[in-house]
Formats: sequence, C-alpha cells, structure tokens
Amino acid sequence: MLLLTVMFSACKDSSTKNNPTSQNSMNSNNPLLAESTLPYGAPDFTKIKNDHFKEALLQGIDEKREIIKKIVSSTDPATFENTILALEKSGVLLDRVRNVFSALTGAHTNDTLQAVQEEMAPKFSELRDAIYLNDKLFQRVKTLYNKKESLDLDAESLKLLETYFEDFEIAGANLSSEDKETLKTYNSRLAILSNTFNKTLLEANNAGAVTFTDKSDLAGLSDADLKSLENKDGEGWKITLQNTTQQPMLQSLKKRETREKLFQAAWLRADGTAQDTKSIITEIAELRAKKGALLGFANYAEWSLQNTMAKVPENVFKLFNGLVPSATAKAGQEAMEIQEMIRKTGGDFTLAPWDWNHYAEMVRKAKYDLDENQIKPYFELKTVLEKGVFYAAEKLYGITYKARTDIPTYHEDVLVYELFEESGDPLGLFYGDFFSRPSKRGGAWMSNFVDQSKLYNKKPVIYNVCNYPKPVAGEPALLTYDEVETMFHEFGHALHGFFADQQYPSLSGTSVARDFVEFPSQFNENWALYPEILKNYALHYKTGEQIPQELIDKIKKSGTFNQGYSLTENLAASNLDMQWHTIGSDTKIEDANDFEKEALHKTKLDVVSAVPPRYRSTYFAHIFGSGYAAGYYSYLWTEMLHHDAYNWFETHGGLTRENGQRLRDMILSRGNTLPLEEMYKDWRGSDPKIEPMLKARGLQ
Ligand SMILES: [Zn+2]
Repeated sequence: MLLLTVMFSACKDSSTKNNPTSQNSMNSNNPLLAESTLPYGAPDFTKIKNDHFKEALLQGIDEKREIIKKIVSSTDPATFENTILALEKSGVLLDRVRNVFSALTGAHTNDTLQAVQEEMAPKFSELRDAIYLNDKLFQRVKTLYNKKESLDLDAESLKLLETYFEDFEIAGANLSSEDKETLKTYNSRLAILSNTFNKTLLEANNAGAVTFTDKSDLAGLSDADLKSLENKDGEGWKITLQNTTQQPMLQSLKKRETREKLFQAAWLRADGTAQDTKSIITEIAELRAKKGALLGFANYAEWSLQNTMAKVPENVFKLFNGLVPSATAKAGQEAMEIQEMIRKTGGDFTLAPWDWNHYAEMVRKAKYDLDENQIKPYFELKTVLEKGVFYAAEKLYGITYKARTDIPTYHEDVLVYELFEESGDPLGLFYGDFFSRPSKRGGAWMSNFVDQSKLYNKKPVIYNVCNYPKPVAGEPALLTYDEVETMFHEFGHALHGFFADQQYPSLSGTSVARDFVEFPSQFNENWALYPEILKNYALHYKTGEQIPQELIDKIKKSGTFNQGYSLTENLAASNLDMQWHTIGSDTKIEDANDFEKEALHKTKLDVVSAVPPRYRSTYFAHIFGSGYAAGYYSYLWTEMLHHDAYNWFETHGGLTRENGQRLRDMILSRGNTLPLEEMYKDWRGSDPKIEPMLKARGLQ
C-alpha cells in the first residue's frame, strides 16, 4: 500500500487578469511580479532567481491585505460580487508566487529558499488570522449566507459562498468575542504543545538509538548496512530509530536479543524515558476536546470531520468495525505461518512483535520467490510513463501527449509534456520530476503551478515529483514494481487536476477533503497491472520483449502478502487517533498507557499480540505533532473507495473509453463543487462497500 502525499496550496492560483493591483510593479525586474508569457502561464525558470521570492511574496501579502481592507471598509451592502468574489480574487499574485515557491522548496530547495520559508511562515499564519478572525469580514459573509437562497446564484457560486462561510465557522468566527478569546488561548497552547511534542520526540528518537560494539550482535546485516551504521560519535555501530514502531533493520537481524533490544528502544522511546511525551499528549487530547465543545460539538473529531466525506466519527468507526474481524483473522493466520517458520528453522520461542518481519521475510521468499532484479528490466522509466501511464489515460479518457523540450524547468532532469483532449484541444502542461537528489524532500507528490479556473480562463499546469534513484550516465532508469505503482498513483492526482472544470480556483480539481483526495490517485494504480496496459509498457529495455506471465503472476500474488499484519497495524493506529479525539470535554485522562491499552482492547485490535500499532500514541507525530488529528483514517477510507470504484469498472466492461468518460464527467471533473458522498454515490449507484478492499488485500 502506498502512503503518498498530494500537496495543494491553501490558497489557489489564478491569473492577474482583471486585477488592477497587480500592475503596480511593472517596472520591477522581478519576473514573479508579472504573469508569465509562456504557454499556459508556465513559470519562466530562465528568469526566476532565489532572491525574487521574498519580495514577490511580501508584495503578494500586501496586495491581499489591501483587498481585504477594501472589502470590509465598503459601505455598500454585501453582495456576492463585492464580498465573496472579491475574496476569491484577493490573492492572485500571492497564490501565483506561492505555487512556484512551494514547488521549489519541496523539489529543489537551497539555503536561501529555506531561510525565506522560515521567515514567511509566521506571516502566512498572521494573514490567515487577519482573514478568518476578521469579524467585519465574517459579518458580510454571514449576511450573504443567511439569505443564500434569495441571491439567485448558480450552483457553483452558491457552493463557493457556503465554503467560505464554513471555513470561517470552522475557524471560530461565529463565536462570541469572549469565546473567541478562549479559542485563541486554546489554539496558542495547542501550538506550543505540538511544538513541544515534536521537539521531545526528535530528542527521543535520537536518544533511543541503539549502539552495538560486538559485531556478532548484528549478524544478518550486509556489509553496506554495517558501513552505513558506523558510529560517528564513538565506537561500534549505531542503529537510529525510524518514526514507526517496526524498524527496517529488524527484518535482517538474526540474533533475537538484538531484535528485542531494538524493538523495545523504539516502543519505549517516549514512555518512561527522559523524553516522555505522555503528559503532553494527554493535555493535547483534553484541550482539543474542550476546543470541540467550545465550537459546539460533542468532541474534537466531530468538529474536524465536518467537511470530509466521512462527515461524522460514527462513519469512521463503521469502516474500522467492518475491517477489524477480517484483518485480525488474517493476521492470526500469518502469525501461525510465521510460528511454523520459526519452528522449522530451529527456534523454540513464541512469536513476538520483534520477530515478525524477520520471519515474514523468510515466508515471503519461500512462498513467492519474487526477485526485484528479475522484474526491473521490464520497467524502464520513460516507457512506463509514455506507454503505460499515458497509454492508460488515452484508453480511458482519450488523452494524448507531446514532449515539450522548449518549456524551461527548474532542474535538467524534469520532463515536460503537453497533453491534449481526444478532439485535439489542449488540456494542459505536465511536468515529471522523477529522480531523487539532495535538494528534494522524500516521498512523492503532485501539485499545480497553475490551477484550472474559468474565472481567469486558465488551463492547469501540473507537476509530479518522485524519488527514484537516478541511474549513472548511460544506464537506463529501471523501476521496481512499487515505483511503477507510484507513477500511476501520482498521475492519478494529476488527472484529477487536469480534468478540473470549475469557475473558481478555490473549488478546482484536487481542492477536496483529505479522505477523498487520495481516491483518484489510488484508483489510477489499478491500471498498472491491467493486462492490456501492462503488455503495452512492460517491455524489456534491451530486447523489447513483453514481461513473462510467470513474473506478472508473482507480482500479483505477492501483493496479498502480509496484508493481515499491515492492515491490523494501520487500523490500530487509526483507531488510536479516533479514540483520542472522541473523548468528551470533561474527560480527565489519568494515564496515557492505560488509555491506549483500553482503546485497543475495546475495538478488538489487541487480539493478535504480535501485531503492535504502526505508531504508539507516545510517538504518533501525525496526530500530535502535525495536522492529521482525527484524520489518519483517510488512507483506509480512500483505499475502500478506490477498490470499490475499480469493482464497478470490473463489472461494467473494465477499461473502456465510455467508462473513463463517465468517471471523468461525474467525479474527476467536479472538484469540490458537490458533497463528496453524494458525488460518489451518484456515480457508483450505492454507498462504497468494504468487500472489494478486503478481496484486494487477500482477506476474503
Ligand atoms: Zn497521493
């Protein structure tokens, strides 16, 4: 399963057309201050330099503040045009610059850009407060919202009004001034606590590193592993901790005592050590519950799920409850197979969490015998992209492509293509930045340089970023199957952006809730192994031969390996997240460990004792250190959607132009203009079901 990110700026891009304030720097040499004259408004990287960003960002912030000031100081009664539309058009310059800036800080950063990023972060959050905690502005929005039915708005304009109103409401704009002050104190305390959590966890990860001085303790590691573990601060070898419960080295380490020692260091890194986070996380959870109550909800999760597809915590728990029995039953079977492998290889002990990956790998080799080196020659990067990813888009949606070597890029490795509709009409520009380098952060993602919008007559300019190892000069770039799947995944996000057909940039394309945005991308992964697509792109890079059926079968079969474990550990973490965020506002948590144990016990996620949660509460940075509180479930939610959606295709003729068009018309082109659950149900004919997901994971 791929856990990949899609990035989209909180504010959206649009052109400078119709915006008088963007004209005031025409004399400057800063290319970011004027709209690009390149095709599709593509950023002109031949002219953009590091030191252009700060000036352009600051000017963008000033312009936006000016426009907001004008809206609130108007003595005219609020209208859709002078308030909502004016708000929507308020960040033209800022959004355009931010799109380019965040692309570079993610994919090709440097000290100068990082310094600007740090300097700008508080300015962006101040700007946000200046809008969403601005009572005069909110009153104008609210006036319109309260008479929305009489405004005679088209459906998308009405949705835009509702979205702005809800954003204000979620931020607390509707509270009394006294409650607003309370909310501010909660928010600032929560920000401090999250910061402290992150800082403490970082220290815990460092302090938890395990050092070994006897080489025999590390039996099973390769010479390259040992080399990379050499202790720079002293003698021996040092294994540093990864964020997750399981540690990568546990797979190779042969000595059981070593495995236990490493596992316990990870498990207890922030529990009972000098870097204990238990009191921090209980305070965060209790304070969030109070915040939820202040905003009028039974708990924090209820508040934070409002704009998602799941809508309410009950629906999330319903998904969990549907998955838990199959997941833990399969994990139980896997545990038995592993126990048998332990016995067969001479072990006389009961399987523990620190043994799982080591023996699971032996089971995998015995059962599937899948060697990446056999597969990779059939997956050459450009062939996969053009004859696989693009080809699938042609079969489903009629999309064709043309390489554009004349469009400037921010790095020589970036490929640019122009995409076309079946009719030959232009669709947009696509950038693929596939190789890793020190200036790029980890992972894979998609975002826009230019967002689609009819308001500004803009077609999308979209990029995908991956982190494939770059081959040495003259060698082909050969991918693993996981990397092939990642390419289909990220292009699925791109299609969601390319097919956007919205009037307003802030409702366009991928601007949807977290528990929906990964659906189009995960769904697109399904075509990677679809026979008609696979035989078109999985060609040996030397001989051009198609990949043999025997290898395809192995890839397919190995896809269901260890799925009981992986689903159970994910469910356990997702469930912990929801349990922490559905406590009532007067709940007092005495002991974080007891709370965690009870949370897993009451949801029956502790029945296979060798399967621990992917993250324990004490080091669950997604929910206590960053923005995924009551949101970690999204990965499982969209997984359910994409298998359910693929099931529809399977029962309706599979890969056809007609089926693709129907998905495009009813979902991929709709952006955030419809309630997500209704949009999905209209297309599917029913609510999503979990059975196809269970089947795909081999759990049924
Ligand atoms: Zn994604």
